[in-house]
Amino acid sequence: MQFSDFGLDKRLMSMVEHLGFSTPTDIQQQAIPAAMTGQDLIASSKTGSGKTLAFILPALQRLMKNRPLSKRDPRVVILTPTRELAKQVFTQLRLFTAGTQFKAVLILGGENFNDQVKTLEKDPHFLVATPGRLADHLSQGHFYLNGLELLILDEADRMLDLGFSKQLSQINNAADHRKRQTLLFSATLDHAQVNEFAQELLKKPKRIAIGSAHTEHKDITKRFYLCDHLDHKQALLEHFLATEDYQQMIIFTATRSDTERLSAELSAKGLSAVALSGDLNQGQRNQIMDGFSKGQQKILVTTDLASRGLDLVNVSHVINFDMPKHTEEFVHRIGRTGRAGSKGESISFVGPKDWLSFKNVEAFLQQSITFEQVAKLKGKFKGIKPKKAAQTTKAKTTDKTSSKKKVVKTNKAKKAFHIAHDVGDMPVLRKKSVIAIEDIDNTDNEES
Ligand code: ADP
Ligand code: MG
Repeated sequence: MQFSDFGLDKRLMSMVEHLGFSTPTDIQQQAIPAAMTGQDLIASSKTGSGKTLAFILPALQRLMKNRPLSKRDPRVVILTPTRELAKQVFTQLRLFTAGTQFKAVLILGGENFNDQVKTLEKDPHFLVATPGRLADHLSQGHFYLNGLELLILDEADRMLDLGFSKQLSQINNAADHRKRQTLLFSATLDHAQVNEFAQELLKKPKRIAIGSAHTEHKDITKRFYLCDHLDHKQALLEHFLATEDYQQMIIFTATRSDTERLSAELSAKGLSAVALSGDLNQGQRNQIMDGFSKGQQKILVTTDLASRGLDLVNVSHVINFDMPKHTEEFVHRIGRTGRAGSKGESISFVGPKDWLSFKNVEAFLQQSITFEQVAKLKGKFKGIKPKKAAQTTKAKTTDKTSSKKKVVKTNKAKKAFHIAHDVGDMPVLRKKSVIAIEDIDNTDNEES
């Protein structure tokens, strides 16, 4: 199948040709014609498989072919969980709207609210936005959605994870009419919360799933290493930075404070590293992403803020310095490499504090993972036995003859956990558990 088989407007076709895309990807082959019929879609395919174009093309086609429902209201709203991803989608959209009568604008949290009010007054056709800020403008009557034709949720599941269901419902309710079409896209859409939400938002949606989230991404190699504590992780990281042949690398940590600490340490060692987190103001965030995407730095240390959607073609390696709190983010994090058919490497560190997350990832990937070792950096940590075994041990302590050995084992497991906590598998800040939870939970919330 070729792009020309879709019957797209010639302005769209000439841009596709200009971009040098000869064949539509699998998701594009299925989602573009389905969306062009006007039906609602729940579409999933692996990271880096061209989902953006799979919604941009049918959206533009619809606007070019159909008369608007209203003179002033936006005709298409595209929502993403992070500002960085919204910017990227906007940039791709602008390639196609340039030279047409269609105006596209970006409405993001962290930017000047009044400037956005003025932008909205100009009645743009496309809004690309993060949900919190867009819902604020909607509440204040800065635009209306009675004429909305298409609502597109990119990385829909992540927006729900971040707690945006209220804002999404509000946007949905403001555009609640018969002609509204809704498209949901992500690499991971098969969990219950998404299904529930899809029932609220979509009308008889067509489901398109190219592979499943659990399917192996054949272009991305996965390696896992057991780590005793923070110092061990650090030593392994230094080893890989010295031995891996990487173009650009993204290192994911659990918290915002870790990004700064780690990037400062790497920079002090003369490496070209920069930190990106939600702690920074928008100007700083823009500057960092622009610089990194232009190759000004080789290493980006970040949180799950950057796990979704970002298409940075020179990222050859992803390192999970800490395992992700939300299991699916593993798939998205490693999906920052191996894009559009290129090869990528992922390396994940699993310390005592990461064990539960690791087991969840292993279950999610539906495969039994074996650990690799670096000969000169072998550790002691071998994983944590399932709780059930510990409970059995406890129950049997009344049996005096066999209890001793098992109790010792249980204490050993406890000790391993303790060491990790004290030595600092998590950063110093996280010694106080209250701070830890707050810090992690707010890691990448994009609210207004
Ligand atoms: P996803 O959203 O599935 O993670 P993206 O939409 O970000 O993927 O696309 C990943 C990369 O693939 C981008 O660099 C994009 O320009 C490129 N791409 C998209 N469609 C095609 C195609 N038909 N042929 C080749 N490359 C493509
Ligand atoms: Mg995407």
